[in-house]
Amino acid sequence: MENRDKHALPVSDALGRPLRDLRISVTDRCNFRCRYCMPEEVFGPDFRFLPKEKLLSLPELERLTRIFVSLGVEKVRITGGEPLLRKNIDEIISRLGDIEGVRDIAMTTNGSLLKQKAQALKDAGLARITVSLDSLNDERFGAMNGRGFPVKGVLEGIDAAAEAGLSVKVNMVVQKGVNDQDIVPMARYFRERGHILRFVEFMDVGNSNGWNMKHVVPSKQIVDMIHQEMPLEPAEANYFGEVATRYRYQGSKDEIGLISSVTQAFCGSCTRARLSAEGHLYTCLFASNKTDLLSVMRAGASDNELRSFIAEVWGKREDRYSETRLTQTRPVQKVEMSHIGG
Ligand code: SAM
Ligand code: SF4
Ligand code: SF4
Repeated sequence: MENRDKHALPVSDALGRPLRDLRISVTDRCNFRCRYCMPEEVFGPDFRFLPKEKLLSLPELERLTRIFVSLGVEKVRITGGEPLLRKNIDEIISRLGDIEGVRDIAMTTNGSLLKQKAQALKDAGLARITVSLDSLNDERFGAMNGRGFPVKGVLEGIDAAAEAGLSVKVNMVVQKGVNDQDIVPMARYFRERGHILRFVEFMDVGNSNGWNMKHVVPSKQIVDMIHQEMPLEPAEANYFGEVATRYRYQGSKDEIGLISSVTQAFCGSCTRARLSAEGHLYTCLFASNKTDLLSVMRAGASDNELRSFIAEVWGKREDRYSETRLTQTRPVQKVEMSHIGG
């Protein structure tokens, strides 16, 4: 392990899962109102987003990331809200990517501002980007993103990212009766362009998206639909804990991924911590409990104190929500996806 802080020790949680990945939400704001994430009726004109002084500043982001790295984090993903709305996002990428021990820095974005920002992100050291796009049909996509934003705007962002030299993946959240007819056209389009498309099962994140199991298209059905038109074969995982299950188009190197958090939960290998824009640590996407690192930090905690505090929280972690979703009593209030970025 290269040059980690001398006080540091990688930590494991109560179920033996190490801390490897950190997802950082850099803003709670978004220019979309995706029905499954920030429905307009909840996140409408009166919704109060965080004021600037409540956001983690760049030095605070840097400091916390260093501490997380000293506890085992190797991969950082920048997300939101919409991360490209955060001022100086390229500087954030550059400073976090430069931290010794960060082996990989990636971003998830809705792509709407990517055309203008792709080159600056690449220049700042970003290697990989995941762009969310749920349909190639303007009417359906506009309804899903809640703002009538056209497909073309996202596709241009994807093209700009690829031209700038970023490795691009595309995420499609599939909802039965909403965009399941787009599965095969999306697969074909991104196969032709050499980008990996990943199908994400619609999840019951947050409290406001009206989730119901009936709206989930199981990954297995998605594979069957595509296989009928473009034969697929299973591909081996790239590494332990990979979130997506991979399939290759037969006779080629092109592939798709399936993120089956509902029908094939992967909690056993979940090594992800999530940091909200206001500096709260969540140990699960479906958590109702958080740890307020910002207040501890602003109250004057030293690096060692913060490190011990985070290690203690991670050490007690027992989360495995997706494995128990259909059998356990639900938490009363869960964190919203737009708070911690998926
Ligand atoms: N705004 C950025 C974007 O949309 O890519 C980053 C934040 S967004 C919360 C991160 C990812 O979560 C997106 O790919 C989005 O499609 C996904 N997502 C949001 N709500 C979801 C839900 N209910 N089920 C499954 N995925 C969801
Ligand atoms: Fe915004 Fe992303 Fe949530 Fe859509 S999924 S509302 S783009 S944060
Ligand atoms: Fe990880 Fe929680 Fe998702 Fe399970 S439900 S994979 S513990 S984030």
